[in-house]
Amino acid sequence: MTGAATAALAPTTLLASCTPKPEVKKASTPLNLCFQEGVTPGNTLQEKLDFIESLGVTGIEVGGRGLAGRADEINKALEGRNIRMGAICAGFDGFILAEDEQKDNFDRTMREIIEAAGKVNSCGVIMVPAFNGQTPCRPHTMDTRNYLCEQLHELGEFALQCGTTVILEPLNRAECFYLRLVADAAAICRDADSKGVKCMGDFWHMKEEPSDYAAFMAAGNEYLQHVHIASRGRRLTPGEDGEKDDYRNGFRALKELGYEGFVSFECGREGDPATVLTNAVDLLRKQWEEA
Ligand code: MG
Repeated sequence: MTGAATAALAPTTLLASCTPKPEVKKASTPLNLCFQEGVTPGNTLQEKLDFIESLGVTGIEVGGRGLAGRADEINKALEGRNIRMGAICAGFDGFILAEDEQKDNFDRTMREIIEAAGKVNSCGVIMVPAFNGQTPCRPHTMDTRNYLCEQLHELGEFALQCGTTVILEPLNRAECFYLRLVADAAAICRDADSKGVKCMGDFWHMKEEPSDYAAFMAAGNEYLQHVHIASRGRRLTPGEDGEKDDYRNGFRALKELGYEGFVSFECGREGDPATVLTNAVDLLRKQWEEA
């Protein structure tokens, strides 16, 4: 903008141009909560689903290991309930950036899980490109990133054929130096160039993000497929770390996006499970309203 043009703008005009556009989606975006199976009290899947239903929670997230053998049982258990399958959490062998036979193990087992994920109508299978301790791993270079995008493209296209997706999960630098920011995961999704490649944010790992709001907005609806949540001090159940457990900045982004996916509990606990989960659901619904 030229100096003359700047001078021609009245201060009120400049102020107006900085005002956010009306947030038409914000008020109407529902909070869709989900519990991981391991987080949920109950001795059987039916008991766990009963508990989930009693809190008005509408999703369950299960692990990928052994999923193919459980698909029928899961579908039957979900029949007639207001609960959908959320994401499938990992469960494969090996890793995608392995330099040895672990890559073949990853390809084989990940594809089995993706097929099963489609059968249980899951929104996607969560994966991490490489944990810090996994070796031998391809070096952190541009060539490796290109390779990752090519491999993810193939995997994403396969997932689409199965009616699901693969979901990249950024962690924190202590666990996964390779991928730790939601925006970076979204950029990899873009460059993988498949609608079957998505990403997620985990409020626990997102303590490394400069802004929860910016992280989710960077991914946007095009790439953001799932969200994990835990308390923000010790990774317990939301609310167990008191005032640290403020999710409103991130929730505001999800509401403005009209995010339709799940916010799924991946967390430990200190207190009685039924009590802390009930309190957490109340807390998150309150913060969602306030966001
Ligand atoms: Mg997670």
